[in-house]
Amino acid sequence: MVRQMHVPGIIEKKRDGGELTAGEINELISHFTSGEVPDYQMSAFAMAVFFSGMSDTETSVLTSAMRDSGRVFRWPKGSPPVVDKHSTGGIGDKVSLVLAPMLACDGLWVPMVSGRGLGITGGTLDKLESIPGFRVDLDEATCLRQLEQIGVFMAGQTSDFCPADKKLYSLRDVTGTVPSRPLIIASIMSKKLAESLDRLVLDVKFGSGAFMKTRADAELLAEGLCSAGTANGVRTSFVLSPMEEPLGHTVGNALELREAVETLQGNGPADLVEITLDLAMQVSDSPREALARRLKDGSAFERFLALVSAQGGDPGFWEDWNAFHPVPVHRDVVAERDGTITKMDAGTFGRASVALGAGRRQAHHDVDPFVGFSGIKKVGQAVSRGEPLVTIHAADEPAAEAAANSLASGIQIEPA
Ligand code: URA
Repeated sequence: MVRQMHVPGIIEKKRDGGELTAGEINELISHFTSGEVPDYQMSAFAMAVFFSGMSDTETSVLTSAMRDSGRVFRWPKGSPPVVDKHSTGGIGDKVSLVLAPMLACDGLWVPMVSGRGLGITGGTLDKLESIPGFRVDLDEATCLRQLEQIGVFMAGQTSDFCPADKKLYSLRDVTGTVPSRPLIIASIMSKKLAESLDRLVLDVKFGSGAFMKTRADAELLAEGLCSAGTANGVRTSFVLSPMEEPLGHTVGNALELREAVETLQGNGPADLVEITLDLAMQVSDSPREALARRLKDGSAFERFLALVSAQGGDPGFWEDWNAFHPVPVHRDVVAERDGTITKMDAGTFGRASVALGAGRRQAHHDVDPFVGFSGIKKVGQAVSRGEPLVTIHAADEPAAEAAANSLASGIQIEPA
């Protein structure tokens, strides 16, 4: 049991709306990281924060405590500008897979530390791990070597790097405690500050498939994230982006990886390409056209394959999608009438994808890399009766049936 710290007292103080001292927060995080505070107490603490919130001072102390729970990267003097992007979480959001190699081609260093799926949103690490052999637990020496050689790594929190976020993130994922402003700020900014960045851009999402449901809440979150970055000497900016329908045409780990590859090969969907370029512009000095060219001339894709090889993945994974993506059941959801699509609800797709197994229901669960949705039509598209609106990829028939039923309430077509 933890000496000199009464964890139930801290939980109760936060539950009842009290303001925690820096000492209490630092001790809680340090004892949680070392394993002395068990998961059930930390989950209760997260729920207390969810309901009672945290002051700016508490949030800032929590962020620093989580950053300092592990090592902070130090880059050699004279390194290229060190930049990164982070999203607050969305459905079908595969931007990082495209953006990171694109920025590395631009001569920048991109030490990208990402997360797994969180709540109903997908995670970059789960998507990358659908590549056979791909490793996301890198040590510091490997990270530096990779930056020197190819300008980019994509890794997860480890027992060395932001271990407090690694543990708390997986608890929040399955305890309904994700959509909390202070917990999101501390989670994202502890990782980004530990990367010792020069520039950071944040994709702050709002809508049914985001943790912030309204633009006003997203703006508040963005301001909190930005002030944490700026106060720590990182040039931080944000883009507010709607998350009412899935980004691109796919949701699910391997399916999203495939769409990211198509985008890196110059054939990406317009919404994915646009947001990627909007974000890249915030941290790069190059004009938009030069960044867009990286997708057309194959250089960003080549860099992505170099990244895959460097992190132990099979660089030929994309050459035969049928072999790569063996999913037992495919089922189309079709339009019941002629008309125009007015709703493809991102939140509905997110919940249905977790139910299919693309996300976790308990912290120790593995995701199924192959399940999800492809061919998702976009709001505003005209469709004819019987035309497929989305293809479900499921492990078995009952799962496909359940997904089809769930999606029904999230899709609307108005007669033309
Ligand atoms: N991304 C993170 O890393 N943490 C959050 O809490 C939300 C999105």
